[in-house]
Amino acid sequence: MPRRLDPTDHRAITDRLRIAGDAGLGRRRQDEDFGWDKAHAKSLLPDVLAAVSGLQERLYAEGARKLLVVLQAMDAGGKDGTLRDVLTGLNPAGISVAAFGVPTEDERGHDYLWRVHQHTPGAGRITVFNRSHYEDVLVVRVKGLAPKACWSRRYAHIKNFERLLTDEGTAIVKIFLHLSREEQRLRMQDRIDSPDERWKFRAGDLDDRALWDDYMAAYREAIERTSVRSAPWFVVPADRKWVRNLAVASILRTTLESMDLQYPEPEKGVEHIVVT
Ligand code: ADP
Repeated sequence: MPRRLDPTDHRAITDRLRIAGDAGLGRRRQDEDFGWDKAHAKSLLPDVLAAVSGLQERLYAEGARKLLVVLQAMDAGGKDGTLRDVLTGLNPAGISVAAFGVPTEDERGHDYLWRVHQHTPGAGRITVFNRSHYEDVLVVRVKGLAPKACWSRRYAHIKNFERLLTDEGTAIVKIFLHLSREEQRLRMQDRIDSPDERWKFRAGDLDDRALWDDYMAAYREAIERTSVRSAPWFVVPADRKWVRNLAVASILRTTLESMDLQYPEPEKGVEHIVVT
C-alpha cells in the first residue's frame, strides 16, 4: 500500500482509513503523516471545515436524516482536541456531544444500550459520542467488569442496534484515534507538569495504561467485528494532531457528501414574492 496520500483528496483519505476486516492496529502507524507537509496540511483544514459546515447546513435544512459520530481513544488520545479543532466550526444549533463515563447506579440498572439510545441524534442533527456503547466491550472486558459470557454477546447487539439506527435514517461513522503508547506517555507527563492541565490527569489513568496490550486486543476485536459498510470504523493516526484533524475532517466531509443531502422544496410560487 503506497504511503503517500493527496491531502486534498478527502475521499482517498477516507478510503485509506476505513476498516473492512483486519483492523491492522499493529500495521497502521500511529505517527503516520502520509507524506503531508505540516504547514500545508494545517492550511487546508479551514476549507475542509467550511465544506463540512455547508453540508451540516443541508442536513439541518433537509430535516430528515441524521449523523452519529462515535469517538473512541485511549486516555490522552485526543478526543477533546478533535472536538475542539474539528467540530467547533459547526452550527451549534445542529450538533451535540454526549459523553459517556462510568455508568450511574440508575444506568447500571438498565441494559447497557439504554443510556446510549437516548442520546442518538434527532432529524437533521449531528451527535458526537465522546466514548460510547463500545466501552461495554472495551473497559468492561479489559477490567473484567462483566463475565466473558456477557460481553461477548454484545458485538451482535451492537451491530443490530446500529443497524436499527441506519435503517431509520442515521449515518454512522466510528473513529478510533490510534495513539502510540510512547505519545500517551509524553502527553500524560505534559499534563502532570503543566499547572493548567494537571486537572485532566487521574491516577487511575495509569491503570488503563498498564493494560495497554489488553485494550489494543479489545479494540481490535471490537473494530473487526462491528465495522460494516453502513457503520464503518476508521482508524485515524493520532500521534500528530494536524494529521488527525485533517483526517477526521476529511472523513466527515466524505460521509456527509455521500448522503446526497437536499434542501427541501420551497413553497410553490415563493420566488415571485416581493417583501415590502
Ligand atoms: P474522558 O477520559 O473520556 O475524558 P473521564 O475522565 O470522565 O472522561 O473518563 C470516563 C471513564 O468512564 C473512562 O475511564 C471509561 O473507561 C469509563 N467508562 C465509560 N463507559 C463505561 C462503562 N460502560 N463501564 C465502565 N466504565 C466506563
